[in-house]
Amino acid sequence: MLQNVLLKRAIYASEEHKMMQQMIQDFIKNDMLEQMDEWEEKGMVSREVWERAGALGLLCIDMPEKYGGSGLDFSFSALFVEELNREGVTGPGFSLHSDIVAPYLLKYGTESQKQKYLPLMASGKMITSIGMTEPNCGSDLKAIKTNAVDKGDHYVVNGQKTFITNGYMCDMAIVAVKTNVGTPKEGVSLLLMESEMEGFEKGIPFKKIGLKAQDTCELFFDNVKVPKENLLGEEGIGFKIMMTELARERLAVALAAIGGAQGAIEKTIAYTTTRTAFNQPIAGFQNTQFKLAECATQLQLHQSFLDGCTALVATHQLTAESASMAKYSATEMHGKVVDECLQLFGGYGYMWDYPIARMYADNRVARIYAGTNEIMKVLIARGLFKELFEQMRAEEKK
Ligand SMILES: Cc1cc2nc3c(=O)[nH]c(=O)nc-3n(C[C@H](O)[C@H](O)[C@H](O)COP(=O)(O)OP(=O)(O)OC[C@H]3O[C@@H](n4cnc5c(N)ncnc54)[C@H](O)[C@@H]3O)c2cc1C
Repeated sequence: MLQNVLLKRAIYASEEHKMMQQMIQDFIKNDMLEQMDEWEEKGMVSREVWERAGALGLLCIDMPEKYGGSGLDFSFSALFVEELNREGVTGPGFSLHSDIVAPYLLKYGTESQKQKYLPLMASGKMITSIGMTEPNCGSDLKAIKTNAVDKGDHYVVNGQKTFITNGYMCDMAIVAVKTNVGTPKEGVSLLLMESEMEGFEKGIPFKKIGLKAQDTCELFFDNVKVPKENLLGEEGIGFKIMMTELARERLAVALAAIGGAQGAIEKTIAYTTTRTAFNQPIAGFQNTQFKLAECATQLQLHQSFLDGCTALVATHQLTAESASMAKYSATEMHGKVVDECLQLFGGYGYMWDYPIARMYADNRVARIYAGTNEIMKVLIARGLFKELFEQMRAEEKK
């Protein structure tokens, strides 16, 4: 058993964590596993599963109770992310909604924005997304073209976003726009855009090679009137907000990776113990044992590092560099683990009915979204050569 060789994780050791883990496992078993095929056919999950998650207190877990959250610390959110991915339940974009959109609102929202959106989000009655990427720019976010023109008490927004998780189901999206274009105040700002606003259109969900039950689509804005009170934070500081908050988003992706790797190894241990060849279990071959020993070791190393990162979120000390290391390294590890595991399933590993096949397909995007792994290395290197880059910038200004 994998648990026999892994260190006990202090961050999940409390009775509350154990109860939460049991509740999550029951939720997955009773409300999600049987729906997976139907959701994959439709390219999206049901609204009911969002409301069920809300009723169980599993949305906006670390938001304050006065805004409808569960008032717990981030380790409980981390546990939820890991458990979902451990079972390969990647359809509902809960983490993006609870761990990315909600903290933006809590940290930068006005009191009335928090009161308007957070309780609905925590109940699962409102589904949210975040729109940064555009058809012509993903990594280079400063190059976005979606434009918000100031019209006094409102903005008029024109533009397009792509690859938006929860895009088709969303009721509200945080959208990155350019404001004050062509003036010295030109910059990126964030707007809370409700899908009911006139001129806000959604594309049909993309057909993807994995995450088939998670809706990902384009958003189009044609002269959408957005009241000024829907500005999140101040005008022009959107890029700074995104760069700060992306650390937590990247940690969430890394947590999904270690949860996924754990599930893949567990399922492979079970399969290779019962499947036989040459009159012995597949697990009897030294190759199988060595491969799984290597996978378990890699998982252990990443769990230990990520537990440290998770603890730092509570005290707002997780740095962009650590989050980038976690995201890049854990998703690469997950990719290798799930590939090795699939191999040990033989031909069955290639069949969609076997969760390992879905895990293999689902994992691939983790090296691309939330900032590609190449961009993660750019960010780490920026920290390594900080003084040099500062000197170079100062010389450019002379
Ligand atoms: C399933 C899915 C869900 C997504 N969900 C969302 C979402 O909810 N919201 C959202 O805003 N976006 C979302 N995205 C978009 C995602 O974040 C982007 O795809 C990603 O940031 C990469 O941008 P790009 O696709 O434009 O690639 P590009 O930026 O065009 O990059 C192409 C290649 O060039 C490399 N590259 C680019 N710049 C550099 C550099 N400086 N140095 C070295 N290499 C470089 C990249 O690493 C990559 O390999 C999602 C994407 C997918 C596939």
